[in-house]
Amino acid sequence: MANKLMVVIPCYNEEEVLHETAARMTEKMASLIRKGYCDEDSRVLFVDDGSKDRTWELIQELHDRQPLFEGLRLSRNRGHQNALLAGLMTAKAHCDFSISMDADLQDDLDAMDRFIEEYRKGCDVVYGVRNKRDTDTFFKRQTALLFYRLMKGLGVDITFNHADYRLMSRRALEGLSQFREVNLFLRGLAPLVGYQSGYVYYDRGERFAGESKYPFKKMLAFAIDGITSFSVKPLRLITTIGLLIFIVSLLMLLYTLVAWIAGRTVIGWTSTLASIWMIGGIQLLSLGVIGEYIGKIYNETKKRPRFIIDRYLNSEGADPVVDA
Ligand code: UDP
Ligand code: MG
Repeated sequence: MANKLMVVIPCYNEEEVLHETAARMTEKMASLIRKGYCDEDSRVLFVDDGSKDRTWELIQELHDRQPLFEGLRLSRNRGHQNALLAGLMTAKAHCDFSISMDADLQDDLDAMDRFIEEYRKGCDVVYGVRNKRDTDTFFKRQTALLFYRLMKGLGVDITFNHADYRLMSRRALEGLSQFREVNLFLRGLAPLVGYQSGYVYYDRGERFAGESKYPFKKMLAFAIDGITSFSVKPLRLITTIGLLIFIVSLLMLLYTLVAWIAGRTVIGWTSTLASIWMIGGIQLLSLGVIGEYIGKIYNETKKRPRFIIDRYLNSEGADPVVDA
C-alpha cells in the first residue's frame, strides 16, 4: 500500500518561526519514515498565503536545500482557511494522506504518530484535540469556549477544542473537494465529509515566535462565518422573537383599549419611549442577522475562486492544481 504523506502548513508572515518549524519537521519526517509510518517520498508543503515578509524566500531556500520541502504560493493573502484548502487540494493530487497544521509549532508534532496509527486502523479523518488550553490567554480561552458552546447550541457538529490539526486520507480530501462553498469553515466541513473518524488528544504549546495572526476582529469574523455557514437557527430565532413581540403587542392593544374606554388615557411617555427603542433595536438586530445570510448568498452566487496559485515548488515538476 502506497503511504505518501503530505504535511500541509499555511504560513502568513511567519519568517520568525519557519526555520525552527522546518528543522523540527525534518526530524519528525525522518522518524516517521524510519518507523515505516510513511513513504520516503513524503513531503512537507508550506503554503505562503501572500506574506509580506521574507516567508516565501525562506520557503524557496528550504526547497532548494531539501526536496522534502515543497512550496505553494498564493497570488495574494486569502486567509488561513483558503490557504489551507489550497494546500489540501494540492495534497489530494500528490499523496495518499495529509496532515494539516499551523506554522507556529503550537501543535505537538509527536501526535502525528498516533494520527497515523488511527489512519492505519481505518480512519479517513483523524482530529487532533487539545487537552487543555492553559497556554492560551484567559480571554482567548473564554471566547473559544463560548464559541464552541454557541455552535453546539445551534446544532452544528464540530469537535470541541479541535482546530485544524487533522489527518485526512486522499478519499476524504476527494470528498472535501466536492464542497464548493466560498465561505470556508474547514473544521465544520470535515465531519460532513463523513467516513470513519478518530481522535487524538495532545497538549497545545505556546506559539514558538511571532504573534498571533488572529486578532480579536478576525476571530469574531471567523466565528460569525462558522455559525452562518452551518446553521440557519439564528433566522428561526428571529421568527420566534417576532412572534413573541406580536403576542405582546396584542396584549398591549387590549390594554390600551381598556384604558381608553375607562377614560384613563394619560399614559406616561416612559412606556412609549421604551417600546420604540426596544422594537427598533430588535428590528435592526434582526435585519443585521438576515443581512449576514444575504451576504453569504451574495458571495456564494458569485462563485469566485477560493484561491489562485502563483507558484508550486516541487521536485517532481508537477503543475499546480487549478481546481479552486
Ligand atoms: N495564517 C494564514 N493566513 C492568514 C492568517 C494566518 O495562512 O491570513 C496561518 C498562520 O501563518 C498560522 C495559522 O494560519 O500558520 C494559524 O494562525 P495563528 O497561529 O496566528 O492563529 P492562532 O493560533 O493564534 O489562532
Ligand atoms: Mg497559533
